[in-house]
Amino acid sequence: MTVAWLGIGANLGDARQTLKDAVVCLAQQHTLAVLAKSSIYRTAPIDADGDDYLNCVVKLDTSLGAPELLALCQRIEHHFGRERPFRNAPRTLDIDILLFGDAVIDTADLTVPHPRMTARAFVLVPAVEIEPDLVIPGHGPASALLPAVADQRIEKLKPLCQCFGAAPAIDRAQDNPAPDGIGR
Ligand code: AMP
Repeated sequence: MTVAWLGIGANLGDARQTLKDAVVCLAQQHTLAVLAKSSIYRTAPIDADGDDYLNCVVKLDTSLGAPELLALCQRIEHHFGRERPFRNAPRTLDIDILLFGDAVIDTADLTVPHPRMTARAFVLVPAVEIEPDLVIPGHGPASALLPAVADQRIEKLKPLCQCFGAAPAIDRAQDNPAPDGIGR
């Protein structure tokens, strides 16, 4: 099993829903287990036109090799209608392999660590949210790279579901006053 990290982004259609659906899709694969998912972030497009992106990062454990994981990511992109009319075109879904264990891979189809991850706030910020001590092979601690990307616009979105947030304690005594004379 290998711990791998994926960067997921979208800036077409209902990008927030697409990110969530993509993570569900990953979680349903019997060849991997999702270990952690970052918050969703709104980020400015870089070297691209179009609307802001929504991005998140997923940490997973997989029995797949790196080429097979790339093929799975591309199948999921395709499932969500990804087309590649030109480089950096707006996209319904983009899934990149950021890290694959400690592997350093440089083949025609796959470069890992992802070549641009060290210079992108939309990767570094969510990755450090999941794992503050994350080390990028060949680059050192991810957190040490954050100052260099501090000028890139990135905003954490509030979760739609806040069930697990720090909800105020419910005062049951107020909701259901005890009948007179009965102590609690
Ligand atoms: P993109 O348009 O950003 O999705 O790039 C897709 C192309 O990048 C594909 O042809 C992949 O083979 C190639 N690629 C190289 N390294 C990676 C990586 N670490 N993760 C995803 N795609 C990669």
